[in-house]
Amino acid sequence: MTRRNEENSARANAFVDAYRQASAVQFQSQPPDLRAQLTDAETHGWPDVEYMLHYAAYCHAATSALPQAARIAAAVDQMRKLADRLGDPVVGAMTTAIEARVRGSALNDGDVNLEQDEVDLAHAIARLDDADPESPFRGIAFFACAIAYAQSAAVQLEVDMYDRVEAANHNLPDQYHELRTITLREVAQNRVSALLDLACEQAELGNRDEAAKMAAGALDRPLVRVIGACSEAIDRQLAELQVLSALARRPPLLRPPTTHPSQHPGIAAFEHLATAIRLTDSGQSEAAADAALQAGEELQGEMIRTMHGYALSIAARRHPQDPLIEQYIHTLAEDRRHARQRLIGAARARIQAESVRIENAKLTERAFSDELTGLGNRHALARHLGVIARSVSPDVVAVLLVDIDEFKAINDAFGHLVGDEVLRRVGRLLDGHVRAGDVVVRLGGDEFVVVAHGAGTEQAITSAQRLIEVAADAGWSEVAEGLRVGISVGVSAGHPADVHSLIDQADQGLYRAKQSGRGRVAMID
Ligand code: GH3
Ligand code: MG
Repeated sequence: MTRRNEENSARANAFVDAYRQASAVQFQSQPPDLRAQLTDAETHGWPDVEYMLHYAAYCHAATSALPQAARIAAAVDQMRKLADRLGDPVVGAMTTAIEARVRGSALNDGDVNLEQDEVDLAHAIARLDDADPESPFRGIAFFACAIAYAQSAAVQLEVDMYDRVEAANHNLPDQYHELRTITLREVAQNRVSALLDLACEQAELGNRDEAAKMAAGALDRPLVRVIGACSEAIDRQLAELQVLSALARRPPLLRPPTTHPSQHPGIAAFEHLATAIRLTDSGQSEAAADAALQAGEELQGEMIRTMHGYALSIAARRHPQDPLIEQYIHTLAEDRRHARQRLIGAARARIQAESVRIENAKLTERAFSDELTGLGNRHALARHLGVIARSVSPDVVAVLLVDIDEFKAINDAFGHLVGDEVLRRVGRLLDGHVRAGDVVVRLGGDEFVVVAHGAGTEQAITSAQRLIEVAADAGWSEVAEGLRVGISVGVSAGHPADVHSLIDQADQGLYRAKQSGRGRVAMID
């Protein structure tokens, strides 16, 4: 193993460790102490690992039973800073999803912009759909989007996101394989909640058989029965499974002897709801209503919304013989379902629109770039010249027109593939020698243009001479034995408003350079 490979593997391990922690700290009472790991990641220069550690701190704060607004804000702030530093669109999208979720949960404080959050989230998802499939962040980022949708009760979208997490997992490079195991387990757990939500919606609507079918489907999913350590999260999942069993008209699940009754708020509500469902099914509507009311009392804001609605509907059906109550419940449930469908339809349309926008932007970008060298093409030059011509900057601008000498002969002697490689290398070489803000394009064939801002004639000649030297010594024998490449350059400099005539002058300079023996720079007087 080379040193570089070792470093990469240590970094991947630290990343996976941090994610394992993010997953494990949820619902734990004590915040994790991440200081040593953060220092370690910082010392190594691993901002991706640092990011994941702050994510772990966020996960703990966000799932804690106590309000943790300050810790959530601090963690998200660090994540945003690191995302900006990493410049990785996947990490940026993940952070956007988390920011949207945090604002969503601050809903009761009033200061939120839900519309903007929906737009940001759709944009994040469209970017993730388009992102590097091998990024270890991609599945995790889709997971963050799922949680953001769960927040706004858009369950079908939440489920769409889990599908994307699983698809992203297939592309993970081997050194991240443990991420797959962790996320698959998390997705399996969260799918239980999502399917429970949908089954309750059906039950509340009065579609009891449909609800039973969905609940049975959820219970029979692979992985659902894989239950690990006896944490509160697992207790909560067990409680959800109890409701699903009742909905599926199956006998209650036996609790594994290792688990103890959980203190996590809201869990007792699940047990009461399961009881209420069983009592309703056996025709004991009075007792069912009592249990359902108890479920409502135990809620403490913890229970998913459809479950709440369903519990209330059972309580209201204390007198099942009253058709007016039946109708009222049904109408309310239908209205809520329609509102939710509209929300989901709008969100899906938004994601679609964002994908189209990204696709169009890529097409536009492609229209401006030269496929062979990756530089801009003549359209990009025209666009840039338009910007320069409109600018009020008094700066001078220099134009360097570069043409490879005897390029036809290179093609003839070494073949087109070598010729193509020469073009790519000359392109890289030019690109590597300009300053930020300068523009390099391939005009076509073996001709390139550099537009250098703030450069006068003398500076243009100096940099042209430098380019000629660098091109001559660029180690061409690596490309093909006996290959030699030279360039000629025509230069001009002047006011940006006259940039078109500057290009003409540079062209005449180039002609002069070719006439007087090639491998040199020239300009017209
Ligand atoms: P001069 O020194 O006068 O510039 O001579 P030259 O042979 O370089 O002449 P010119 O610049 O006119 O030749 C350009 C050649 O570039 C002609 C064409 O076959 C070749 N060419 C154009 N585009 C490509 C390309 O994409 N790949 C390759 N391999 N060759 C190309
Ligand atoms: Mg040429």
